[in-house]
Order: sequence, then structure tokens, then C-alpha cells
Amino acid sequence: MNQPSNSNIRLEDNALEDNALEVSAVLSGEKLAQAQSRERLKVLSAIISLALSLVFLTLFTVTGASSTLRDALGGNALLPTLAFILVFGLLAALLEFPLEVYFGYVQGKRFGLLKQNFSGWLVDQLKGVAVGTAISSVLFLGLYTIFRSFPDLWFPLALGLIALLFGAMLFFAPKLARLNHKSSPIADPDLEGRIRNVFGKAGVRLSKVSKLEVSAKTKGMNAMLSPDGVGTEVIITDTLLEKIDPAGVEVVLAHELGHKIHRDVPVLVVMSAVQIIVVIAVAQWLFTSVGTQFGLQGAGDIATLPLLMLSFTLIGQLASLLINAYKRRMEYRADRYALQITQNKPAFEAAFRVLASENLTDPNPPRWVEIWLHDHPSIDKRLEAARMWKAA
Ligand SMILES: [Zn+2]
Repeated sequence: MNQPSNSNIRLEDNALEDNALEVSAVLSGEKLAQAQSRERLKVLSAIISLALSLVFLTLFTVTGASSTLRDALGGNALLPTLAFILVFGLLAALLEFPLEVYFGYVQGKRFGLLKQNFSGWLVDQLKGVAVGTAISSVLFLGLYTIFRSFPDLWFPLALGLIALLFGAMLFFAPKLARLNHKSSPIADPDLEGRIRNVFGKAGVRLSKVSKLEVSAKTKGMNAMLSPDGVGTEVIITDTLLEKIDPAGVEVVLAHELGHKIHRDVPVLVVMSAVQIIVVIAVAQWLFTSVGTQFGLQGAGDIATLPLLMLSFTLIGQLASLLINAYKRRMEYRADRYALQITQNKPAFEAAFRVLASENLTDPNPPRWVEIWLHDHPSIDKRLEAARMWKAA
């Protein structure tokens, strides 16, 4: 499945980089140009979105808009607090909406990745906003109740609340994936047999294999494992099944099994929980420093929510640098695991070529972009690591 190397247009000026010649053949010509242009748009979108958040959250606090909204909604009792969370969430969503339309819908259509029409897309977006609002309402209502009623016990109580919320989110995640898409059992005994075989090698019990129907909406491909009673359910998008051959599907699932065997999800959940606790600690410091300026009334005051969000944004940026670096290592490790149990390098490479081309992923983004925004190593690097891999 190797592409002829003359299809590579990414010839580096530097003749010494001869590895680059070999590894950049994943995408070429028009496809590569599109993937790179999509990458630039993602960076632009991340920059605008970050700048917009910082400006909005700061202005909303220092202009007194936050304390005015709190008073207008009736202060800091339970229902007015919930009303504040909902109104503020709505304002923030409205602010982000033009970015979502341009970078999500318009560009998705332009690159042919999105197949939905505008109203269908909008309905899915609204469902996403509804789920996000429900989760953040529980979190913020819980946190502000703790800040107000048990200020000295905020640490253990907030930790308990976050653990509870994350547990619920992990439990409901597979159900959420089915919120926007239909799923059905795959009707392919041969493929199911192959998948069962890979699961056997990994020592993981397979419960069932489901196909998630996303092709009417998007070209994006995905595969995930989901706890299902004592076993594990495989959920594969129809787009992936259509474009990647059974040997490639085995490799993709072996990679996902690598994540499971290495317990990558629980580790990430713990890292996220630590991040939120740090955010709250920084926010507490921020509340104390700001004191009663801008009409604020201390930590238990819901009008400090924009300040809490500001510390979320700032700490989130720093934390994601660390977490993304760690995730990229997890990806290499899962790739090595996939190669080890399938022993099928050609299928691994072929699957990556298809993924890069269908998802229009820049195979070799600038290093600073990778460090800032990517939780997966670039496809060029993953293929290079796979080429260097030798059976243990
Ligand atoms: Zn992975």
C-alpha cells in the first residue's frame, strides 16, 4: 500500500532531512494543501476564541455587568444562582456562535467534511449546548453552594462533587455518542470474528460490535471502546468501516485496546480532576484579591462566576500543554501496542494514510502548533515511529 515516493510534494530544501522525504508521503498535492489550510484555520480559531474569552470574562467583571446581572436576577439564593448560571452560559454561547458557524459549519462544508445542511447542523449544536449547560449548571451550582455554605470544607466537598460528576459523565458518554447518531449491530460475522480475535490477544472480553451511523452527517471517522456490563462494546463509525479494510480495523481497535490496557482514560480523568481543583484554588485567591471591587461580594457570590471561568481559561491553557504532551506519549504507546498484537505494519500505515486523507489532517503541523493544540502526535511522526518499531 506504499505510495510511490514521487507523490511527495513536501520536499524539504534541506537535503540532509532525508527522513522527511520518506515520511511526508501520507498526503500530497491538493489534499496536503487543503489539510494545511484547515490546520491554519484551526489555529486562527483557537487564537480568536481564547482572546474573545479573556476579553469577555474580564470586561464582564470589571464593568460591573456581573454584579448588575446578579442583582437583576435576585441575588445569591439558589434559584437566582441557577438563573445567573443559565443566562451567563447563554451569553457566552452566543458570543462563540459566530465562530462555530464560520469555523465549524462554513469551513466544514468548504472542505467537504460536513454533509449536514445548516438546520441539521444547528440542531446538533443546540443538543451539544444543552448537554454542556446541564453539566456546567450542576458543577457551578454545586460549587457555589459549597463556597457559600461550607467555605472551610471547599476542598473535600469540591473533590467529591467533581468525582461524582466525572463518574456520571463516563457512564453517560457512550449514550451521548448515540444522541446525534443511530447505531446498530454490524452485520459482518467475518469482521466480528477478527475483532474477537484481537480482543482475545489483549485479554479483554468483547460484548458486542456496533456500527454508529455518521456518514449522512460527516466524513469523520472514529472507533471507541465502551464498558458494557462485564465486557467491552466496540463502536465503529460507518465511515471508518467503509474506507478502512478489515486488517486496518483490527489495527485501529488494537490501538484502542492499548489505551484500555494502559488505563489511559482513568489517568486522564484524575489529571482533569486535579486541574479543576487547581482552578478552584486559584479562583479562591482571585476572589480574595478582588475583594468587594466591581460590586462583588466574595467567594460565595455567583457574580464571581466570570472570574472562576477566567481562571479556568488561564489554568486550562497551561494544563493542556502538560496534558497534551502526556496524551501524545499515550498515543505512541497505544500505537506500539497495536503493532505488537497485530504484527501488521503495512495495515497500520495504510490505515493512517486513509485517516489523514479522509479527516484532512495536516500530517506535519508546525512544532509550536503541535505543542499548543494537539493531543495526538502528527501522522508523519506516528508513521515514523511505526517504521522504527521492531517486534519485541
Ligand atoms: Zn489513541
